[in-house]
Amino acid sequence: MSETKVKNYEPSARDWPGDFDYENGQYQNKCVSCDSLFIGHKGRRTCKKCFDTANEIEALTARVRALQNTRDKDVLLSMTTSERDTIIRSLHQAYVSETGYDIKWDASRVFAWELFSLRFTKEDLILVIRWIKKQKRLGNPARELMFRSLISGWNALSSFEEDLQRAKADARIPRYAPGKADVLRATTRPDAPTPSTERKAGDVLKASDALAKFREWREQSGI
Ligand SMILES: [Zn+2]
Repeated sequence: MSETKVKNYEPSARDWPGDFDYENGQYQNKCVSCDSLFIGHKGRRTCKKCFDTANEIEALTARVRALQNTRDKDVLLSMTTSERDTIIRSLHQAYVSETGYDIKWDASRVFAWELFSLRFTKEDLILVIRWIKKQKRLGNPARELMFRSLISGWNALSSFEEDLQRAKADARIPRYAPGKADVLRATTRPDAPTPSTERKAGDVLKASDALAKFREWREQSGI
């Protein structure tokens, strides 16, 4: 990083004019993100433009994460096109990676994902696909994972809703080793923990953890 005290200053959107009054506040630095020269405090690593963009990305990422888990109609209607696009693309990616069916992202699928995203989340999608795969492994009857039967076909979303209810019910059944239930009974505790809001709390933790990781990554890569 080259740093030289600036003699003849010409304003630029990449600069940090708020730094100028401080000691060492008017240096020419090279932005670690875009390689452009900018004027600001000697210790700065990024230009103002890259800094603002990173903040916008973080805000968008946080909002998309929150939107992915909401079924609130007003919130869904307030989504911007790019937020909705981000969400349905991530649904498609999750479908491809969970099923292994490398199908294209095309207009007819976009519309199907739009309808899907109004009723279900990416977590729902992953839960149901894994549940169906498990049923098949166990030899139980289950729906096909093909896009036309799982997502876009006639009645597909109603069937998805039913599968989701069953998958959620199965996920709530605790898996204890046979001896553990006896121990719990002997100590007069219930066999299974009561289903509560613990899942929701877990989701919140996951989301804030992801945001912390994002911040850490951003700091490491200097943007
Ligand atoms: Zn920059």
